[in-house]
Amino acid sequence: MLKHNFSAGPCILPQEVFKKAAAAVLNFNDLSILEISHRSKDFVEVMEKAQNLALEHLDLTDKGYKALFLGGGASMQFLMVAYNLLESKAAYLNTGTWSTKAIKEAKLFGDVIEVASSKDQNFNYIPKGYTVPSDVDYFHFQTNNTIFGTQLKDDPTVSVPMVCDMSSDIFSRKRDFSKYDLIYAGAQKNMGPAGTTLIVVKEDILGKVSRSIPSMLDYQVHISKDSMFNTPPVFPIYVSMLTMEWLKDNGGIEWIEKINNEKAALVYDEIDRNELFEGFVANKEDRSMMNLTFNLVNEDHKDTFNKMWQEAGINGLNGHRSVGGYRASMYNALTLESAQTLVDVMKELERKA
Ligand code: PMP
Repeated sequence: MLKHNFSAGPCILPQEVFKKAAAAVLNFNDLSILEISHRSKDFVEVMEKAQNLALEHLDLTDKGYKALFLGGGASMQFLMVAYNLLESKAAYLNTGTWSTKAIKEAKLFGDVIEVASSKDQNFNYIPKGYTVPSDVDYFHFQTNNTIFGTQLKDDPTVSVPMVCDMSSDIFSRKRDFSKYDLIYAGAQKNMGPAGTTLIVVKEDILGKVSRSIPSMLDYQVHISKDSMFNTPPVFPIYVSMLTMEWLKDNGGIEWIEKINNEKAALVYDEIDRNELFEGFVANKEDRSMMNLTFNLVNEDHKDTFNKMWQEAGINGLNGHRSVGGYRASMYNALTLESAQTLVDVMKELERKA
């Protein structure tokens, strides 16, 4: 029996996608998807479809945006963003490990103004009431903090270009994506296997910095070559395309958001109701709908609880080493039934304790 996979990423993808991906490894128009040229007509079609689907899901078709699928992971975007956009100073919101890493890279290119940080409480909340200066080159933040389990629910309004790392909640909830000038997301959460990163960028924010940019790190070079400047990660892009098709066929972000809300409500309600557990993020409006972090109130139950969820076929529930406790990552492909299995185990622990 397949496990209920609560892993933070790489993570669960729809079974239907796994099946189609596996079939394409064996036979994709009479060749394996792993052996075709990225310049072949068949793959060019895949790339175009993936780019179009990404823009369609974000409601950004024909609005001046381009979609790229590059290698290097979301971490590469920490420096590419700054390389391409940071002329003198940029504003960053620090909500956790990934923000901190993005800030570190940006400092290599110019001044960084940290507009707010939740570091004082181990990043267990989203700072509010900060001001983004109007003379910065851009404002950067993460919508979802995979490690700490916080999520920015409302899209900020600022007067400068807005750049966002949506690696761990892309395609999971409706947003006004047109407020964003550059969105990036590593594939390995809601989109596909590790190995490619989606970048959706509004073309008119590019070409404004005075420095020379190496070709591989230059968004304009990748745009001019339709994301084929060098050999793209063919298989991760194909699987990402399949996942975006699955999402579209089922009703898009609107459809999945409802299910995600249902799953998150089920588990958060149990965390709050069951006295053996406490949520890591106290402020309900800051709680992530993708990565639900929680602790046992009494560590004496740890061995029993660990044994119980493992026996129930749950995988990947341990929290990140910097937070401890537990993290239930409930990405798009995780079913309501899997969320219910976790809740059942939590209730069972209560009965036993
Ligand atoms: N940003 C966020 C929000 C993440 O969760 C991660 C990885 N989990 C990264 C960036 C880094 O991604 P990658 O490993 O693809 O470089």
